[in-house]
Amino acid sequence: MTLESKSQRGGPLDKFREECGVFGIFGHDSASAHVALGLHALQHRGQEGAGIVSFDGKQFNAERSLGLVGDHFNDPKVISSLRGRAAIGHVRYATTGGTTLRNVQPLFAEFDFGGLAIAHNGNLTNAATLKRELVSKGCIFQSTTDTETIVHLIATAREPRAMVPPATVSPGVVLRIIEALKQLTGTYSLVAMTQNFMLGARDPFGVRPLVLGQLDGALILASETCALDILGASFVRDIAPGEIVIIDESGLKSLKPFLPVASKFCIFEYVYFSRPDSFVEGTNVYGARQRIGAELAKEQFAPADMVVPVPDSGVPAAIGYAQAAGLPFELGIIRNHYVGRTFIEPAAQIRHLGVKLKHNANRATIAGKRVVLVDDSIVRGTTSVKIVEMIRNVGAKEVHMRIASPPTTNSCFYGVDTPMKDDLLASSRSVEQMRQHIGVDSLGFISLDGLYRAVGFDARDAKQPQFCDACFSGEYPIALTDFHSGEQPAQLSLLAERG
Ligand code: SF4
Repeated sequence: MTLESKSQRGGPLDKFREECGVFGIFGHDSASAHVALGLHALQHRGQEGAGIVSFDGKQFNAERSLGLVGDHFNDPKVISSLRGRAAIGHVRYATTGGTTLRNVQPLFAEFDFGGLAIAHNGNLTNAATLKRELVSKGCIFQSTTDTETIVHLIATAREPRAMVPPATVSPGVVLRIIEALKQLTGTYSLVAMTQNFMLGARDPFGVRPLVLGQLDGALILASETCALDILGASFVRDIAPGEIVIIDESGLKSLKPFLPVASKFCIFEYVYFSRPDSFVEGTNVYGARQRIGAELAKEQFAPADMVVPVPDSGVPAAIGYAQAAGLPFELGIIRNHYVGRTFIEPAAQIRHLGVKLKHNANRATIAGKRVVLVDDSIVRGTTSVKIVEMIRNVGAKEVHMRIASPPTTNSCFYGVDTPMKDDLLASSRSVEQMRQHIGVDSLGFISLDGLYRAVGFDARDAKQPQFCDACFSGEYPIALTDFHSGEQPAQLSLLAERG
């Protein structure tokens, strides 16, 4: 299945969508229950499949399911079947249909050294190339996730003799995992578990987040700090780019086996992906979004009567905009929080209602007013058109749209679900052409430098950008190996199933 066909499920995708969240805990009597809670908190990173694998000292226990975490893991019988003091879990955005369950992670495989479960957030940009080589050596793939490529690389890896084994209970296994990771290009924040240890790893560029926490003496790995908060766990630190941590009964060991490179954390995590109550790379996301809104107001002020967010993702930036511009903040659009997945693919006879299922303009607030409408991003622009039409229909006098990210001109290859480049509104249109298309009186985006200022830098370093910002700049910091070697169809297929 290609990205394109994926995006056409239930209407075209009109947001960048984070693909996955990971969580793991080692050394806790209620390991699986805590993983389920952690996955609940990470639900925004993937809503179509969830899984947990535990180890009980004798055997691995696995449960995977399509749907939301609560659909399956709220059942006490399911949790009690996941025995053990160590467990890892995963939420993902995935495809629908019968073939999908086999792609729900954590993946599990039996090796010569015993079992290994692995859960991955990110996307490997050389997965198709590696897969072709592995298949030619006789490897048989059972899923279409790029994560399975890592499993086969571990299976076929040999311990590099030159390396000094780290002081762990399973030095050979750790060295084989390192040998596998060294062959990867792309992004990964992953958790893995054997019968002896839990492992966390972040790619050398550190594109996707991964944090370390602690609860009752047990150590935790999670995509975001909000997953620690739900447990009452304390935040210890971020896992550093290129760092591998091994957690076993003797505690935590940190390895840095890769050549150091300049980190390229995904700047879009601040704009949209991460939960506002999380801290990523030491920065609170809600605060960052407010500062983005304030910068946006400085750069793109519009004389108006009020600032209205597109809920929910536009709210923090709209608050920042309103404060900086000295304008009232009003909830001019009300979101229906009770639209369930029933309506993700609504029946044909009501599909035309589209955005109205989720949003309704607050007529009493908006009628006769000049409105600054703040959203986090414009992807295809289809939702923006409908929301603006809705606001005009209730009598807004003027609509000025302000966007808390620069124009999205390029697709993401690093673990985020995006439409094809040609389907991005900004890829082929000027701001004025976009303004006409959306039907607003004015349209303004924060500049790339303004975005960098909001997240703590004076400006973007043009020679060595401090973040990955490829979807805005077109400058991809990590090689797109498959894409440039003619493996594009396979790459897109893998992208559609990535973790
Ligand atoms: Fe994030 Fe880079 Fe992907 Fe944009 S291209 S979403 S900045 S990882």
